[in-house]
Amino acid sequence: MNTLDNYDFSGKKVIVRVDFNVPLNDKYEITDDTRIRAAIPTIQKIREKGGAVILMSHLGRPKNGPEEKFSLKHIVKDLSEKLGVDVQFADDCIGEQAHNIAARLKPGEVLLLENLRFHPEETKGDEAFAKKLAGLADVYVNDAFGTAHRAHASTAVIARFFPKDKMFGYVMENELKSINKVLVENEKPFTAVLGGAKVSGKIEIINNLLDKVDNLIIGGGMMFTFIKAMGGDVGNSLVEEDLIETAKAAIKKAEELEVNLHIPSDTVAADKFDNDAGTLICKAGDIPDGWMGLDIGPESIKTFSDVIRNSATILWNGPMGVFEMDNFAKGTVEIAKAIADATAKGAFSLVGGGDSVAAVNKYHLADKVSYVSTGGGAMLEFIEGKTLPGVAAIEE
Ligand code: AMP
Repeated sequence: MNTLDNYDFSGKKVIVRVDFNVPLNDKYEITDDTRIRAAIPTIQKIREKGGAVILMSHLGRPKNGPEEKFSLKHIVKDLSEKLGVDVQFADDCIGEQAHNIAARLKPGEVLLLENLRFHPEETKGDEAFAKKLAGLADVYVNDAFGTAHRAHASTAVIARFFPKDKMFGYVMENELKSINKVLVENEKPFTAVLGGAKVSGKIEIINNLLDKVDNLIIGGGMMFTFIKAMGGDVGNSLVEEDLIETAKAAIKKAEELEVNLHIPSDTVAADKFDNDAGTLICKAGDIPDGWMGLDIGPESIKTFSDVIRNSATILWNGPMGVFEMDNFAKGTVEIAKAIADATAKGAFSLVGGGDSVAAVNKYHLADKVSYVSTGGGAMLEFIEGKTLPGVAAIEE
């Protein structure tokens, strides 16, 4: 398999799918450059090895062709500074101008193409469009993990035109290595911590993880569907009635597979969905009428933290409570700290999926876990056990 390290890029034109989908403010200034920074090592590696780099990305969700606020030209200056080279720009990702600049590109030079999604063919996975992009280069590198679960022209279809000259960039490689370390080559005990609002969004993850983990910890709003399935009283807590049978089936499957399923024993209940609500700590299956559980309680924090601190592999997705409200953030904070402690003792920990990533960043623990995934939706589909088109296109 080709890699950035073993491939000879000298004299080659290399088209790289990056994820430059960064937030811009009203003045078109970048407010968070994490994704651009993440792509730098891949770009520099190709340049150092004598390749010329053609970068392509999407930005936002343009509906009808070009739109100023979604133009990638707004990031040229920042990108040039980060790379230490004047990045050239093509106003359209295909067509004569892009073709001409690409043709003249010398080793070490960099061209950024305008937003791929100004063409509806991109998200449709149009083959003719992918072929035009492919025509600009000799080699294809995919480094956009965030869109790896999409079968778009630039993320998957284009790979067909480079049967022998395609590979992952470092961002993709690192994401795949980390998820592999967790799902395939995990050291035991392996603990998955799942939270978030609803069972419905996580049921495929639960099912895929049950035959891999030793411990499955369930917190967040989704815990109450499980507690109700076990006969508990959950008051006004978030419950998905139509998933009670599904929760029962998961509980049974966990028993059969001898997985320790940890459902919270206590909760912080509130008399309304508000940070200033009246609160009480009670048994999670004994919530008074009119009250709702918005966080896991102190006893659960202790039990869960002990399990986590004794784990060798940890996967975390989803907050333990309504962590956006400070009075219901303790469960999430303490679980994040326990994961950081376990990591300090040598465990491998992966945090993936929108809100848990936001939580580790908020509590400044991102550098105290082994890996924070950059791809929300892509990571979730991976944990669900699905094959990602962007990954398959390179591996095929
Ligand atoms: P998800 O996107 O499914 O991971 O859900 C994340 C959301 O779940 C966050 O916005 C939390 O506020 C919310 N959440 C966590 N615990 C609870 C709870 N006990 N009741 C209601 N919402 C919750």
